Amino acid sequence: MDPVLTIVYGFVLFWGAAWGSFLNVVVWRVPNGMSVVSPPSHCPKCGHGLAWWQNVPVLGWAWLGGRCHYCKTGISARYPAVEAVTAALALAVAMPWVDGWASGELEPWRAGVGMVAEHAFLFACVAIALIDADTFMIPDALSLPLPLLGIGVALLVGDERGVGWQEAAAAAFIAGGGLLAVQWGYAALTGREGLGTGDVKLLAGLGAWLGLAALPAVLLLASVQGLLFAAGTAAVSRAGLTAERGVVSMRHVALPFGPFLVLGGVEVLLLHRQLGPVVAPWFGG
Ligand SMILES: [Zn+2]
Repeated sequence: MDPVLTIVYGFVLFWGAAWGSFLNVVVWRVPNGMSVVSPPSHCPKCGHGLAWWQNVPVLGWAWLGGRCHYCKTGISARYPAVEAVTAALALAVAMPWVDGWASGELEPWRAGVGMVAEHAFLFACVAIALIDADTFMIPDALSLPLPLLGIGVALLVGDERGVGWQEAAAAAFIAGGGLLAVQWGYAALTGREGLGTGDVKLLAGLGAWLGLAALPAVLLLASVQGLLFAAGTAAVSRAGLTAERGVVSMRHVALPFGPFLVLGGVEVLLLHRQLGPVVAPWFGG
């Protein structure tokens, strides 16, 4: 491979892993109302600060053997996993933009704006999915900016992304309004809340970023994978899941829907690019 591209892709991987490391902090601290910048990373058990080499994404955890260097408390493998997955997704998102820049198809500023914007979308989505999985809540600080940023990005690089600002705005409005109507209807029929308002804001954001035509695919992917996961979870443990929320279950298996909406959204973001010509008729474009 071209040495310049190798360096660029290496940088993108490191950039994604570093953001994954930061998202681990965000996912823990934001729901607890803590600052994401201070204090610096430390062991939650003994409070000892981390040296720089212990803070290196993925590798720091491996060098430490998955334990705190000072008190030997185990560190969850979720931390390096989030860093590695975020890095891989960041690379996948960046590839078409880097290719477009390298081949001269895209002006450098458009490639740069497009890549950074889609990375911001990706990182927000990863944080939302993990926080919703942990707490059954989606913080407004993460979900509310998504529709507005999506429309703004459509104004800048809408042609390159295939989602103009009019479509982004319409999709945010329709997705948010449509899901809100389903939520009211479900609550009126059953007296229970099936969808959180966080899901409504998230879907409005996904609509603004992915476009109106992508919404059916996002909802289908999210529902099918949510149902499969719910069926698998129910098979593994019949008891223990008693909370009331979660549309992916018909009855009492409660799952947050946000992580599956994010999963469907990220899949559409990546697949739409790769399979664009194949699936274009289904996506209406
Ligand atoms: Zn410790």
